[in-house]
Amino acid sequence: MSSFSRQSFRSIFCAFNRHEPRRGAVRWDGVNYVAACNGCGKDIRRHGPKQWREDPAETAQLAD
Ligand SMILES: [Zn+2]
Repeated sequence: MSSFSRQSFRSIFCAFNRHEPRRGAVRWDGVNYVAACNGCGKDIRRHGPKQWREDPAETAQLAD
């Protein structure tokens, strides 16, 4: 139950587009660091120090 509350707490930050990368899931895609969000599990991209934003779908398709 406590882990569920923690998950909800994290997604509050996600709702404000403040994501946090999952530890060990960060990788370099040739442009930026990308990772899965620890809170919401979405693909996120690093825009600067401690600035992780959700990766737009268009960008993900271009990267492929
Ligand atoms: Zn998130």
